[in-house]
Amino acid sequence: MELIRKVRKTGFTIAPEAGSQRLRDVINKNITEKDIVETVENAFSLGWKLIKLYFMVGLPSETQADIEAIAALVKRLKAFAKKQGRIQKINVSVATFVPKPHTPFQWEPQISLETALEKINWLKDNLKLPGVQVKWQDPRVSVIEGVWARGDRRLNKVLIDAWRSGCRFDGWTDFFDYDRWMTVFEANRINPRHYTDGIFDTDQQLPWDHIDIGVERSFLIEEKARAAIGKITSDCRTGSCSGCGVCDFESIKPVSFHDHKRLFSTQGPLPGPQPSETDVKYVVNFKKMKSSRFLGHLEMAKIFIRSLRRESVPLKYSNGFHPMPSVSFGDTLPMGMQSEDERMLVTLTEPIDSRELISRLRRQMPDGLEIISCSPYIKNKALERIDKQHYWVELKDGFFMQKDLAWFAGQQSVTIERKSKKDKLVVVDLKKAVSEIRLLDDHHVVMTLGTDNNLMVRPGLVMKTVFKLSKLQILTAIITKRKTNYV
Ligand code: SF4
Repeated sequence: MELIRKVRKTGFTIAPEAGSQRLRDVINKNITEKDIVETVENAFSLGWKLIKLYFMVGLPSETQADIEAIAALVKRLKAFAKKQGRIQKINVSVATFVPKPHTPFQWEPQISLETALEKINWLKDNLKLPGVQVKWQDPRVSVIEGVWARGDRRLNKVLIDAWRSGCRFDGWTDFFDYDRWMTVFEANRINPRHYTDGIFDTDQQLPWDHIDIGVERSFLIEEKARAAIGKITSDCRTGSCSGCGVCDFESIKPVSFHDHKRLFSTQGPLPGPQPSETDVKYVVNFKKMKSSRFLGHLEMAKIFIRSLRRESVPLKYSNGFHPMPSVSFGDTLPMGMQSEDERMLVTLTEPIDSRELISRLRRQMPDGLEIISCSPYIKNKALERIDKQHYWVELKDGFFMQKDLAWFAGQQSVTIERKSKKDKLVVVDLKKAVSEIRLLDDHHVVMTLGTDNNLMVRPGLVMKTVFKLSKLQILTAIITKRKTNYV
């Protein structure tokens, strides 16, 4: 814990999974209540202000007493936090247990949606304490997860139909639509409870039996029997081999890394590249086209950082508890917009040939992210400020009308309110921000846009305000940034 303390101290996470020792033994969680209490006490004493605890409801053999043990454990930990007299918080996350293939519980049933809701609601009601926040995974998500965890080939059509009917991004609460999933199951005459609540026999052929992960089926059956009587199996990295079947003890055997002291040296700098006098900056010019236009800015930044790492490019990192690679981008493109003229500024700890950097990056880029050029950045400052941006817009739905453009030309000012990055309302005058709008035909327009009141104006705003186009018409248009002028 002393070593963890040396890096970022956002929150300390422990996953007891179950509240009672009996149930922790059933799931072979080699952690005692004493371990949990001592770890939390140490964490609070060492300065952590937030402890995150993860529990599951619906574990095999669980009773109400096990649920009550979760509340009792949290209350015990909270009492200690109160004794410390500081503002310390405990976040309790609860999820429904989902039996997974290739585990000793692959034959066990998942609790029903109604039971899961009952258990989670009980915990919510009984953990209404100051400084304790209960979070939970929607048990309806766990139902869907359970179906797919132990599903078979009969679900192929369900998957396609679900996608066709609009099931997307189910991990996001605002997208997840349980009723839509149920409609698809019904249309395919599939009872999801067959996959979730069903108890599978250990003699029964399972849909995933043809996949060999190395662990013997007999070992899983044995572990299931041990779990039923709460007999724990020791960790083979520290104890004896339990004969799971994975190792041949020649090419495959457990290897533990014990030299953590060297890795987490208590003295000196954190691991990773450190500042150096040979630091050198490069400007990388690239295109973001085709399917890559649907990458969000952070996703795109991650792709660049991963690519540089994969190619062992000597990236410079910031100092501090949370070292970050020294990479920045000239613009933050809205999702869906493509660009032929983007820039990244990257700092390396040693010089590298520009052509070499280009070819290394090109090896890693996905379709649509195209590296155009790269050169050392000579000025000792960040990227220049964007002055104007030139766009080409193709409308897929609707028309650009000459009369709208004539209206805009005749105005003294066209003001609109927009939210700044700091969430403040700012008035932007389009007449000041728009340098040029030129109609090529009914479906194509070019425009040159700048800023007003420090806010960059994008084509979408012009399309909405000047051409009165709908959100859908704007979203389906192809907007390409052709060129950027810097000051
Ligand atoms: S030592 Fe290898 S075979 Fe034995 S229990 Fe561990 S992983 Fe399985």
